[in-house]
Amino acid sequence: MQEKEKNAIRLIRQEMSEKDFELYMYSLKKMAENNIDQNLSFMTELYNIRAFQFKAAEEMLENPELKFAMIVLDFANFSTINEFCGRKTGDDLLKHTANSMRTLQREHVVLSHFRADTFGIFTPFNDKEELIDIAVKLDEMIAEFKIPYKVLPAFGICIADSPTMSISIMRDYAVMALDSIKGKFYAKYAFFDEKMRSRMIMNKMIENDIVDALANEHILLYVQPKVNMRTGEVDGGEALVRWAHPERGIVMPCHFIPVLERNGLIIDVDICVWRQVFRLLGRRLAEGKKVVPISINISRQHVFDDSFKDKLIDMSKEYNVPPELVPLELTESGFLENQGMMYERMHYLKEYGFKLSMDDFGSGYSNITMLKNEAMDEIKIDKGFVDDIATPKGRRILKHVIEMIKDLGLNIIVEGVEEARQRDFLLECGCTNAQGFYYYKPMPTDDFEALLDK
Ligand code: C2E
Ligand code: CA
Ligand code: CA
Repeated sequence: MQEKEKNAIRLIRQEMSEKDFELYMYSLKKMAENNIDQNLSFMTELYNIRAFQFKAAEEMLENPELKFAMIVLDFANFSTINEFCGRKTGDDLLKHTANSMRTLQREHVVLSHFRADTFGIFTPFNDKEELIDIAVKLDEMIAEFKIPYKVLPAFGICIADSPTMSISIMRDYAVMALDSIKGKFYAKYAFFDEKMRSRMIMNKMIENDIVDALANEHILLYVQPKVNMRTGEVDGGEALVRWAHPERGIVMPCHFIPVLERNGLIIDVDICVWRQVFRLLGRRLAEGKKVVPISINISRQHVFDDSFKDKLIDMSKEYNVPPELVPLELTESGFLENQGMMYERMHYLKEYGFKLSMDDFGSGYSNITMLKNEAMDEIKIDKGFVDDIATPKGRRILKHVIEMIKDLGLNIIVEGVEEARQRDFLLECGCTNAQGFYYYKPMPTDDFEALLDK
């Protein structure tokens, strides 16, 4: 081993944990044992992912004075191309891409065909513009491949923050940057940046802490009252989750629900919230106190959970709460993913006595065809519609939407009422039920109970 290499490895040892370092050395050794030049992609004859990792690590170790970056290339629509133009054309596109990449080959550059339609370029650079140039040039070259469909390559770029940065982490970061622009046809490339890093750290923290939060009753139930705008009376509530984080205070659902929806943990959080709702209602019923229906949100993840309808029915029995006191709020996306099954489950719950409410109507998550859904009892009009009351067109649209929903015999509730003039207009349209900051914000259950006891 050369002195330079030894130094680089010494540096890595200082920066990495003992375990990471062992793994790193093991993978380097394994790669050296295999004949590196036989580690080629069968189709494109570029390095496969193993050889790429090894070669790139070697470049980085041997040239600590250079700045390196990784560019990951992926096609947004490769499966469509395969499907409509045939596999042979798909393969030809991959070979064409590999050949385009080969034109970039120069000293210290490592090229790879990772797998399927994903490629990698490890390259030295001086400034970011050079990396953008590579992406733009490759995009142009790939576009020369003539097929009836537009080929849509996208590029995720990660710049090494030190000469000891692990190649696989660079690849993860480049892929993360790529994911941030997937499906956005106007964006061709994205750099991994601080925002992505902090989002990733935040997501990791949420994943780590949520299990503790569930065990330690840090998942709190808040309720936002629903109001009859004619009388001002509280005639219902919506259960909204809050996370009482020991260090970060009360965390709003928009910060953690999207993460939990991705890893499926939302199911446990939902069940924890539902249980608190049933417990509260069951206790008040047993005490002979006033109760109103408190609706719960049903995440679309439950679509994939066969036991979810039984969980609701079991809770209703366990806490002695009639199902009509716990309406279920759903968004359309839940139905779209698995229509038949979701309809079946919803009908089952409806038969049992649960009321179904279509959440966020008009927000893009729920559209007009959902009104045909026989199972629905109520439509919850999204705040967006209410905000539009400010314009004449917005007022007319809302008026007709309300008319149509009423004509279909469905109940209406409007979300996000913040001002008296919104209330007045809604009452004029014949809509009496609302939920919004004009009346009440979501509140801890003690406050909500005090409101009912008043
Ligand atoms: P959502 O189901 O549409 O809930 C209504 C959201 O609108 C709540 O936000 C509420 O505080 C807010 N809101 C109500 N009135 C007004 C208003 O007048 N002005 C404004 N600006 N906002 C208003 P929150 O509590 O932050 O919840 C956000 C979203 O998180 C909910 O939207 C729901 O999709 C989700 N969520 C909340 N709790 C749960 C839960 O227990 N389970 C699941 N799966 N999702 C939940
Ligand atoms: Ca809701
Ligand atoms: Ca809503």
